[in-house]
Amino acid sequence: MGERRVDAVLLDIDDTLVDTRASFRAAMHHVVARWMPHLDAARREEAVLHWAQDPRGHYRAYTRGETTFSGQRRLRGTDLHATFGGPVLDDEAFARWEEGYEAAFRAAWAARPDAAALLDALDAAGLPYGALTNVEGGYQRAQLDAVGLGRLAVLGSMDDLGRGKPDPGLFHLACRRLGSEPARTAYLGDEVDVDARGARDAGLLGIWFDAHGTGTDPGDVPVARSLAEVPALLGVASPPAPGDGAPGSRFGAGLPGR
Ligand SMILES: [Mg+2]
Repeated sequence: MGERRVDAVLLDIDDTLVDTRASFRAAMHHVVARWMPHLDAARREEAVLHWAQDPRGHYRAYTRGETTFSGQRRLRGTDLHATFGGPVLDDEAFARWEEGYEAAFRAAWAARPDAAALLDALDAAGLPYGALTNVEGGYQRAQLDAVGLGRLAVLGSMDDLGRGKPDPGLFHLACRRLGSEPARTAYLGDEVDVDARGARDAGLLGIWFDAHGTGTDPGDVPVARSLAEVPALLGVASPPAPGDGAPGSRFGAGLPGR
């Protein structure tokens, strides 16, 4: 175990601590069944990726303060239907579209399986941590509580500055709320530019989480292939797994009665 690299940790939420891609998939399955039942399974999966990747950048425009949350969602829904042959949605139809989307999305909220263990490792190391997200804070509070990650405080969100990452001001605000210096704070997130490079450019230790297992290496920021790799990147120990007696673990030698 190397030297500890930071004194505090900020964490992205979507597709980092929670499995947003799975929630998108559930929501898109609902949308396709209701509005575009002509799509086969392969085209439906293409719709999932189209929604998640947002190729026209409508969500990014929202995080730059150029449109509202509901505005970007309407634009994305319109783009989705234009791309995959769905009906044109007037105001009344879009209200029903969004209601169904939101219900399916929320019903699928789930923490990533190794998220709680990462927080346990940070707790064990005595590292303070919090969340920094490009979504509204209250919405993310509800999601964290719903998935069993209620111990995480939301320290920065779209509510604060009206724009999101990679604005350095938002990283710095979250550091202040955490009581840490940016240079001694790590930020972990799944988007290379907005998260890892954005944090780095704001003076933090930006770490890219390869949430979808691409295996690619951006080359200019450290990479975590799983949340279990994060403690080592920070220079802190992971708690031993239950029953782990391997050398080097907390219980590796001198067991009573041996
Ligand atoms: Mg994310």
